Amino acid sequence: MDMQSFLEGRILDAARVDDVAQYIESGDVECIRGIQDGKCMRCLNEDRAYFYTFHCAVCNGACTYCRKCIQLGRVSSCTTLIRWRGQRTERPTNHTLVPLHLSDAQERASDELIDSLTARRNHLLHAVCGAGKTEILFQPVLHALQQQQRVCIATPRTDVVLELYPRLQQAFPNTFVQALYGGADVEQRFSPLIVATTHQLLRFEAAFDVIIVDEADAFPYTYDAMLQRAVNKAKTSEAPVAFVTATPSDKLLAQCKKERWGYSFLPRRYHGHLLPVPRIVVVRRLQKQLAQSKLPKALHDWLQQRLTKREPFLLFLPTIALIEQCLPLIQSVVPQVEAVHAEDEERKEKVLKLRGGELQGLVTSTILERGITITNVQVAVVCADDAIFDAGALVQISGRVGRHKQYASGDIAFFAESITIAMDAAIADIKRLNTVVV
Ligand SMILES: [Zn+2]
Ligand SMILES: [Zn+2]
Repeated sequence: MDMQSFLEGRILDAARVDDVAQYIESGDVECIRGIQDGKCMRCLNEDRAYFYTFHCAVCNGACTYCRKCIQLGRVSSCTTLIRWRGQRTERPTNHTLVPLHLSDAQERASDELIDSLTARRNHLLHAVCGAGKTEILFQPVLHALQQQQRVCIATPRTDVVLELYPRLQQAFPNTFVQALYGGADVEQRFSPLIVATTHQLLRFEAAFDVIIVDEADAFPYTYDAMLQRAVNKAKTSEAPVAFVTATPSDKLLAQCKKERWGYSFLPRRYHGHLLPVPRIVVVRRLQKQLAQSKLPKALHDWLQQRLTKREPFLLFLPTIALIEQCLPLIQSVVPQVEAVHAEDEERKEKVLKLRGGELQGLVTSTILERGITITNVQVAVVCADDAIFDAGALVQISGRVGRHKQYASGDIAFFAESITIAMDAAIADIKRLNTVVV
């Protein structure tokens, strides 16, 4: 029974499902070919550049597989996918939400989102870093669950899934919440509330009555048409989508306006203080000095200040190579520092160590640009003029500072050889938000 309800709304490789024959026989699922008429039936890719033909040992012949969604395991011409065709299972109704303390602005945005979802209208929740956007989602999610709707909160970043999952479990004590990301341990039973990476949505079809895309502007979602298709495929045709972000692209804002979505704007943090404005520190020959294992004086002084004041810090760098090169230099000033990046399996533990005070600082790639809250954290972006730091990333990184009521300000410094358009735009955007009258 658990397995049958688990299959609802999913599209999976038949070879990976136990006792699949009984579900085919009962008509709960139908079998389809993985690749049909030049189209991958899981990710809907039709671009021939992403298909690769090889000699397959399974079907003993020329077989074509889709490289576009290979991250989730190979789908080829001889793969059988099973697609849910059964009835909607009985949905639980006993959901509860622990009491929340929302500011007036949060309360208003929450009500606006409920209105949009009830009217099955898309919605853009535009809330500055630290506005408390996750709490804004709770009442709308509860409202949908109580209507026996199935809800998915999707985000491009695994780190954001890991941050949201325990908060959702805590907020909805009577609801079975499921977290889906690469390598997650998946309990095979029905969940009315799923928090997943956008990639994982490829394993669903017409499953959700509401999808909330958190950090909608984050890489790779914005750049990858496949992930946008994944959202559309995973929801029912009438299901509304809510986009949540601190840094909406012009394209998203234009689409919101043109298609008359609901829109909520929160220009202030939940504690009411202004966003910290970044300062630029121009350092001549910055890259070269670092490459020669020299710590520029300005950066040395910045680290020395953190040490003296015993402040936790995040130091962002553009590449893994630079992170590895700079780590010993930084440790020579502040010993309790470690490095993290996208491929680091201990990332979660290191963030916890920083939070717990075991570490004083982390040297990081853009992987920690969002979803992370550390009390009294100070932030430096080194080589802020690198192309990887676009305006959105710099706003997100700056948004790590001053999130706590008792530590509502802090230092955010951009160390760079020159001032890029992105740096200017990020600072202008933050200043503009601070002048919005609320
Ligand atoms: Zn595919
Ligand atoms: Zn084959």
